[in-house]
Amino acid sequence: ALTAGIVGLPNVGKSTLFNAITKAGAEAANYPFCTIDPNVGIVEVPDERLDKLTELVVPKKTVPTAFEFTDIAGIVEGASKGEGLGNKFLSHIREVDAICQVVRCFVDENITHVAGKVNPIDDIEIINLELILADMESVDKRLARVSKMAKQKDKAAMIEEPILLKLKEGFENELAARSVDLTDDEYQVVKGMHLLTIKPMLYVANVSEDEIADADNNPYVQQVRDFAAKDNAEVIVVCAKIEEEMAELEDDEKEMFLEELGIKESGLDQLIKATYNLLGLATYFTAGVQEVRAWTFRKGMKAPQCAGVIHTDFERGFIRAETVAYDDLVENGSMAAAKEAGKVRLEGKEYIVKDGDVMLFRFNV
Ligand code: GDP
Repeated sequence: ALTAGIVGLPNVGKSTLFNAITKAGAEAANYPFCTIDPNVGIVEVPDERLDKLTELVVPKKTVPTAFEFTDIAGIVEGASKGEGLGNKFLSHIREVDAICQVVRCFVDENITHVAGKVNPIDDIEIINLELILADMESVDKRLARVSKMAKQKDKAAMIEEPILLKLKEGFENELAARSVDLTDDEYQVVKGMHLLTIKPMLYVANVSEDEIADADNNPYVQQVRDFAAKDNAEVIVVCAKIEEEMAELEDDEKEMFLEELGIKESGLDQLIKATYNLLGLATYFTAGVQEVRAWTFRKGMKAPQCAGVIHTDFERGFIRAETVAYDDLVENGSMAAAKEAGKVRLEGKEYIVKDGDVMLFRFNV
């Protein structure tokens, strides 16, 4: 399963946010593909469409889809030089598929800031630079070998060398690999190196409880937004402390609490949705009277692979999928009505599933 890593300097609110994630507590039993590990938290993906389908179908049970966050504690300056536990943190980052970087935007005299004062851009640059330096090392090592082979007219090496040089030049200008202009083909060549800065990243601006309702006027948040815009990255504003408190509330209590605070959607919910997207994930639904359920697939996956998310037998014996777009189903009010309106399609093996498709798989056992 794909997982997103939570990183950030010490004392920025990572553990608080991660606590909120684990306390919100998805039932692991529902998600056999998920990892059981104290550093991994399973989150259910909030999806209004699932609520609507539940209203329409009135099933015995509704199951949202889920994915994992991994807590990667304690990156420090010098990690790329293997100082302290530095190397270990970097190797943990190497294993995740996307990065959520928590940035401290709250001022609290009682909570030490590692650099002495709150300065989100400095903090971001410390972390990003460590990751870039680690990637620089990987690229340099590889270049040494590849350049030698290119001199001996090795074809693959001659293709790879200029791409590595392009990355190196980017790193020298403090650019992340994801911000270096690579074509799809070039990307494929270096994909296997698992560079840290090629992973998609978003910033989580952690603000104080007094400022969450008016985060747009928080100058630190503004700085993070300006920085992220140049980095093509998204920013999600949360108050980790509030999320931690809210994680223990029931849904209706949560709504009241949010209203009191004057916020529309919890920052954690926004973070979950944005991260899901960042991981390249999308959702299709099955909607039977026994169970209405959301399933995760990778964007671009075809119908048989998507069926395989439910069970490998579904993929192996795949015949076709009765498919209706969520909007068409809701507009017509029921599966039968959607069928009558000609909105239910029979899709075969080559069909690329779309986010929001409601599917019924036909398969041989
Ligand atoms: P980590 O080192 O990044 O994991 O940071 P922690 O989650 O342990 O947080 C460090 C300190 O900051 C703790 O005392 C938290 O209670 C506090 N903290 C975290 N988030 C917030 C927040 O949104 N507002 C305030 N006031 N304090 C927070």
